[in-house]
Amino acid sequence: MTPLQKLFLKSASRIGDSFCNVSLSEYSYWKAGGKAELVIVPKDFEQLKCALMKCNEENLPYLLVGCTSNLLFTDDIIKVPIIVMTKALNVIDYVEPNVVLVGSSVWVPKLARNLAEKGLKGVEHICGIPGTFGGLIYMNGGSLRRSISETLLSVKSLTPKGDTIERDVKDCNFSYRQSLFQKNSEIIVSAKMKLQSGVSKKIKRDMLAILRARSAKFPRKLPSCGSVFISNPKMYEEFGPPGMMIEKAGLKGFRRGGAQISEVHANFIVNNGQASSDDILYLIHLSRKAVFQRTGYLMDAEAHYVDSFGDLTPAHIIAELKYG
Ligand SMILES: Cc1cc2nc3c(=O)[nH]c(=O)nc-3n(C[C@H](O)[C@H](O)[C@H](O)COP(=O)(O)OP(=O)(O)OC[C@H]3O[C@@H](n4cnc5c(N)ncnc54)[C@H](O)[C@@H]3O)c2cc1C
Repeated sequence: MTPLQKLFLKSASRIGDSFCNVSLSEYSYWKAGGKAELVIVPKDFEQLKCALMKCNEENLPYLLVGCTSNLLFTDDIIKVPIIVMTKALNVIDYVEPNVVLVGSSVWVPKLARNLAEKGLKGVEHICGIPGTFGGLIYMNGGSLRRSISETLLSVKSLTPKGDTIERDVKDCNFSYRQSLFQKNSEIIVSAKMKLQSGVSKKIKRDMLAILRARSAKFPRKLPSCGSVFISNPKMYEEFGPPGMMIEKAGLKGFRRGGAQISEVHANFIVNNGQASSDDILYLIHLSRKAVFQRTGYLMDAEAHYVDSFGDLTPAHIIAELKYG
């Protein structure tokens, strides 16, 4: 047992379920990466706070994750505790007419279904996004060129010292796929959303149409992290979206090791079984370079790379450091 594992397993009952030497190629959404020395899954807010306090006491950095559907883990060992947010904060509370308080652990497609059931509309676009509500807010994610921040009223978060803060949405620095939470080390606890009244059956029909369109357009069977590159509005207007430009550069279907630029949609990199993170980084570099040569635009990755110390960096930056 490593010193880190010994340190945390002593407090296991207070911090939640703990797992040692977790294979990231089995655990992570993209099914790539090395091993995690320690994974902690707090089951409620108290356990989450205890895990955070334990890291503070020991002066240890930690990595916070949701479902890992936007993360690319190093092929090496992650030496800091990974705190998984899928269980601790699972509340959906209808607090006022059209106002819903949602915990950050809630699975996004479940939230969309729940709101549709109640006849609340405005976030149908999130119904196919495989992540936690906290991960969605952190990324200011969405689809059909929409973002979750459009419907938020406020976000509650936990500071590294263990204090809770509630910020009005205008103080969260949201912009396209960006948020304040990418710049501070706070843990998103919950958020309030304001929705519009609608007809449940119609909302469900609209969501079904969105899911069908996604199924037809995106690769469904092989692991990926969704769209690899963020669409740059200027490049979109002048040339087209990242997927189209990667395809025009002749890279659709291109393979490196077990990683492949999807044959279904070129802005997806799929794992055919044995992809390493380095294989994926190489394809990110290659796509970026090829699109730059054709358009003069450098595309930024939506996916974040996680290094051995749990530090997060947009994946294109690491791809360029390794292969540029
Ligand atoms: C098939 C597929 C389709 C996708 N389609 C879309 C799409 O249409 N639109 C879109 O926007 N994204 C899409 N994604 C990307 C991804 O699902 C989203 O970014 C999602 O919101 C990530 O949530 P997560 O819980 O998996 O977060 P993770 O990937 O685990 O983490 C992402 C980041 O959020 C941080 N984080 C997670 N929880 C918290 C918290 N509670 N507090 C603070 N920080 C936190 C993590 O530290 C990390 O930096 C897709 C991914 C896949 C695999």
